[in-house]
Amino acid sequence: MIRGEKLYEGKAKVVYATDDPDVYLQDFKDSATAFDGKKKGTIGDKGRVNNIMSAQLFALLEEAGVKTHFLGLESDTAMRIHRLDMFQVEFVVRNIVAGSLSKRIGYPEGTPLKNPPIVEYYYKSDDLGDPLLCSAHLDELQVVSPEDLSEATVMSKSVNSVLQEFFAARGITLVDFKLEFGKDAAGVVRLGDEISPDTCRLWDSATNEKLDKDRFRRDMGGVEDAYAEVLRRVTGPESA
Ligand code: UDP
Repeated sequence: MIRGEKLYEGKAKVVYATDDPDVYLQDFKDSATAFDGKKKGTIGDKGRVNNIMSAQLFALLEEAGVKTHFLGLESDTAMRIHRLDMFQVEFVVRNIVAGSLSKRIGYPEGTPLKNPPIVEYYYKSDDLGDPLLCSAHLDELQVVSPEDLSEATVMSKSVNSVLQEFFAARGITLVDFKLEFGKDAAGVVRLGDEISPDTCRLWDSATNEKLDKDRFRRDMGGVEDAYAEVLRRVTGPESA
């Protein structure tokens, strides 16, 4: 596919146009940021790990009937995707308390939720620092219609069921993750963005060792090894 104009460069990915107006290329970078871009660094081989892992998980989700933007792998670090008009909302799905939820409700990290999953909505606004929103705030802002919000919420729960089972069979506990959705040219709601250790909390089921970006955020070391281990388990056979 012809790599056209660079349309967008974010913290972890670059999106390019192609010769097909409805197809983009999404190229994953090794650069990493945390805390609203205040912490910056590089995670060796991350672009390849996140691309290959996202490709495999999008294909798994498509097989399970969840529509995604994934069209195919283009290279080690790039995939072809449907062009989507993205909802300006991040959907965070949680099974176990961690990160900002631990701070918000005061439960220690690692506490299982009584009635999982919780789905939260965050406003994609750099100016406001991506705040948590209630559905009434979403109604007021009209960044996503009530119908699209409920469809994406149902899809978020389906993604959780599929991924939880997949990771569990590979000795990984899916603690929480962030999803982004948008609409394709035909008006179909699809899952976009990526599914990777950048966007998911993944804990080794036996030891609770963190195998995700928290190792970078919290200066725990062993970041590259953790990403490589997740890719190995995702692309390898079931282990449990
Ligand atoms: N997350 C993400 N991008 C964001 C914010 C969160 O991918 O901009 C993911 C994060 O990796 C975790 C989940 O969403 O798996 C929940 O994150 P949380 O709200 O706990 O935020 P944190 O404390 O990590 O900033």
